[in-house]
Amino acid sequence: MESQKDLAIIIKSIQFEERHRIVTAITQNHGLVTAMAKNSVQSRRFGGALDLFAASDWIFRFKPNNDLAFLNEAQVRESFDHLRKNFEKFSLASALTEFLLRVAPQNQACPDLFQLHANALFALDQNPNTQGSEVFFLNCYLMRLLHWSGNRPQLNACLQCQNSLETLDAYPEINCLIVDAGWTCPACRTHSQRHIDESRAQGFEQSFFRVTPKALLEIQLVLGAPIRRILLSSLAPQNIQEQQKEQADLFRWIEALFIYHIPGFDQRPMKSLRFIGLESSLK
Ligand SMILES: [Zn+2]
Repeated sequence: MESQKDLAIIIKSIQFEERHRIVTAITQNHGLVTAMAKNSVQSRRFGGALDLFAASDWIFRFKPNNDLAFLNEAQVRESFDHLRKNFEKFSLASALTEFLLRVAPQNQACPDLFQLHANALFALDQNPNTQGSEVFFLNCYLMRLLHWSGNRPQLNACLQCQNSLETLDAYPEINCLIVDAGWTCPACRTHSQRHIDESRAQGFEQSFFRVTPKALLEIQLVLGAPIRRILLSSLAPQNIQEQQKEQADLFRWIEALFIYHIPGFDQRPMKSLRFIGLESSLK
């Protein structure tokens, strides 16, 4: 088959035999592509283009009846060096990548997803300090991923009475439901047996997560903003610990939405989550 050109961001790289590497990348026009990079170990053939997170121009080729592509050339466009040198940034970029890998389609164009991931890496790479805002940023990214997959939850109003999120700021918590992908306010608080049964059938011990309205509002407020501006624009230095804790509770719900609503979502544990202090339902 003829050679293809595409812009690719490395999301996984493993050594194959002594001298080769198998890399997986999110590409602009072919979705996830897994490619064999021959003679790439201990040689300068690909420069830094196969490093984790690096963005490069690829020339590659598919062989008939084979999902594995063969990488001929890769020229680095953006190396995202800071992401590999800073532990917090590395852990967060790895968490974004682990989710992306489970959602993006193989060998099918998904330019919006590519753009989201590229912009998120730019934001992390360029911000001098991301410490304390990792979970908030991850949640923003994951909400966009859910939206892309057609599974965006209802955030703006209570599922039962349509009370808006802004009016609930004073309440300590609301119940975020897994099955119905939305929340109910303290005045409504209805959890039907159906919710409980359907959540249990998917292996959840609970049918909802308790989240502060503030945490949800913080996410809702920046959903329309370019992800590259999020780290810079929305963080107040005070209350960072409190925000991190509230966002960690919110993460549990968002993760549950992926598990419940995305067909075939890989339910093996993720490696990076504990490095940003997150508890996961995937065990
Ligand atoms: Zn209500």
